[in-house]
Amino acid sequence: MQSSLVYMDHGATTPVREEVLDAMLPFLKNQFGNPSSPHFLGREARRAVEEAREKTAQALGANPEEIYFTSGGTESNNLALRGVAKNRAAGGHIITSSIEHHAVLDVCRDLENEGHRVSYLPVDQYGRVDPEKVREAITDDTFIISIMAANNEIGTLQPIIEIGSLARENGILFHTDAVQVVGQLPVDLNNLNVDFLSLAAHKFNGPKGIGALYVQEGIKIDPLYRGGSQEEKLRPGTENVSGIVGLGKALELSVSEIPEKKKHLESLRDRLVEGFLKIDDVSLNGHPEERLPGNINVSFKHIEGESILLTLDMEGIAASSGSACSSGSLEPSHVLSAIGLDPSIAHGSMRFSLGRGNSDADVDFVLKKVPPIVERLRNISPTYHSRQ
Ligand SMILES: *Cc1c(COP(=O)(O)O)cnc(C)c1O
Repeated sequence: MQSSLVYMDHGATTPVREEVLDAMLPFLKNQFGNPSSPHFLGREARRAVEEAREKTAQALGANPEEIYFTSGGTESNNLALRGVAKNRAAGGHIITSSIEHHAVLDVCRDLENEGHRVSYLPVDQYGRVDPEKVREAITDDTFIISIMAANNEIGTLQPIIEIGSLARENGILFHTDAVQVVGQLPVDLNNLNVDFLSLAAHKFNGPKGIGALYVQEGIKIDPLYRGGSQEEKLRPGTENVSGIVGLGKALELSVSEIPEKKKHLESLRDRLVEGFLKIDDVSLNGHPEERLPGNINVSFKHIEGESILLTLDMEGIAASSGSACSSGSLEPSHVLSAIGLDPSIAHGSMRFSLGRGNSDADVDFVLKKVPPIVERLRNISPTYHSRQ
């Protein structure tokens, strides 16, 4: 296997940073105790878990009692939505958007099959949910609104402050999948009308398989699993101690570095976008300003994103094809369809997602490699020659 020279797929996952690994290792070695054990090894592990909970809460403007550790973003989204829906009579109403991650959308589909109704709100050409559309969708039996803080494919940020206030005014619970935002942009739960927030450590240079759900104090939801009394019984099972420690450390570090990291990523992002747009028939997807600092999603007309991806792969550049979220299928991604991209254009879309390891040299390398690849692929593309 070739190790990549330039990694621009941080929207998929990020490398664990050295300081985080160092913080985790003792809990995989000598300090291997079970946090529920009353002896000294257990007490050490318990202390580490609670310290990580405090760091996590502090980084988000929450109380430690409001943080529940899970196995990642997928589980947090499932727990929030199913946990709220579980003890509700069928026939309730849920509001979400058509561009959520599948970990929200597929849960909503299940809840529909279980007798609830779901409104999948449309988005505009930039992928923004209009708060006015949320207001119009609210009914007497709407019990939860779930709108992501930022989209993982096109990077568009949602007006979650406005949507949260609407939810609050109407006495409706509000969940946000903030997996792409936490650690990248400031999040202060004191100023957001958010009842549930999902995050995953591997998107901010922490380990995979560990995440958290913020649950606003006073809100009772049901667990997905039964077992022990860990995480106040909301998420039973022996804690992933090293993962939790890694999450806490990674979040503490990322949040303290947000201002400089944001500036760094935005400058790399803007250079990349500018460079790509110099190629003929290339367009930027997502919102031009209201987007994640490290997200670039572009469509190269007349070619397949998949072909660019494979060619870049051979050059040691790791990126993601915009249409490959449901990889293996020929359907363009639900996000690109929702912003109104023609399927032929959606198929030529690529996501480059930047992270703290990326440099100006990486941007130069990509901008040197991509234009000739695009030209070569277009020269062998039947649709390119038959255009107009
Ligand atoms: C990555 C991601 C998820 C899934 O998180 P996992 O930790 O991989 O389960 C959910 N939502 C968004 C927006 C994501 O980017």
